[in-house]
Amino acid sequence: MPAKIIDGKAIAAALRAEVASGVETLVAEGGPKPGLATVLVGENPASQVYVRMKRKACEEVGIESYGIELPADSSQEEVEALVRDLNADEKVHGILVQLPLPAGLDEEAVLKAIDVSKDVDGFHPINIGRLAQKGREPLFVPCTPAGCIYLLKQAGAKLEGARAVVVGRSNIVGMPAALLLIKENATVTVCHSRTRDLPAVCREADVLIAAIGRPEMIRGDWIKPGAYVIDVGVNRVEDASRKRGYRLVGDVAYEEALDVAGAITPVPGGVGPMTIAGLLKNTLDSARRTAI
Ligand code: NDP
Repeated sequence: MPAKIIDGKAIAAALRAEVASGVETLVAEGGPKPGLATVLVGENPASQVYVRMKRKACEEVGIESYGIELPADSSQEEVEALVRDLNADEKVHGILVQLPLPAGLDEEAVLKAIDVSKDVDGFHPINIGRLAQKGREPLFVPCTPAGCIYLLKQAGAKLEGARAVVVGRSNIVGMPAALLLIKENATVTVCHSRTRDLPAVCREADVLIAAIGRPEMIRGDWIKPGAYVIDVGVNRVEDASRKRGYRLVGDVAYEEALDVAGAITPVPGGVGPMTIAGLLKNTLDSARRTAI
């Protein structure tokens, strides 16, 4: 039987609709209109697109968005001063500094300057630290890995006691995904570029999350029959038959995996849409906390 396809687009749309109705209720009950500040330093075209998408998504669910742009040659102090101003601004419930920052700026110091209660991207060291500690809860969880877990649950995966394998250990996807799976009581193996016999490790996974950035690296015969496969990778491969000259593929050989996995996310239309939906949800949660 071919794998069930986990429709991230539909699941994210439902989550966005939930956020829109949550915003409406919060405001109707006299709470604040949630506000998200996006900080874009420099003119990286991909970052400009991401910020635009995030601001448009805010508008669609009734979240106010404040876009602040700084020139690429801004100093560390200028960026941190802006973050401090946003920390003090009551209209702003979430602060998102679009990464990567231009060379020469200290990314960790900027993320640390964000008030932990407005850290809707979940990258503040205190939030990541709490994610890694037993019995502690972060105020916010990074949106892409949170989206992976949300999709697994929506697809009916039983995480407690499952053997889970995460391929990739980045700060923004692989590592927080592994920490979230541990919080769900899965038994987790984290793989990376130095892992020996990766196919054999993957074959043990009831739940496999691929966050590598290598087109179709995980083959069908690396997958345990019936496994839940979450493909975070977004890779461009040349394709002369497409008008734009390329197509997007994940880190998993999708067609091969379809014959083996129990359920799988497509690329595009799987994890991708969950990231922005998670950001909206985090911003709403932050505004709700200030209303308590
Ligand atoms: P990084 O490059 O930061 O991390 C990649 C990880 O994969 C590293 O831990 C690296 O290991 C590991 N890796 C690389 N090559 C191999 C290999 N041959 N065997 C095993 N492990 C390997 O990437 P990100 O985590 O930022 O992103 C991963 C993918 O997810 C990308 O395709 C990115 O575009 C996509 N992405 C999608 C998002 C979305 O859908 N919204 C959001 C964020 C990312 P090591 O640590 O040893 O170097």
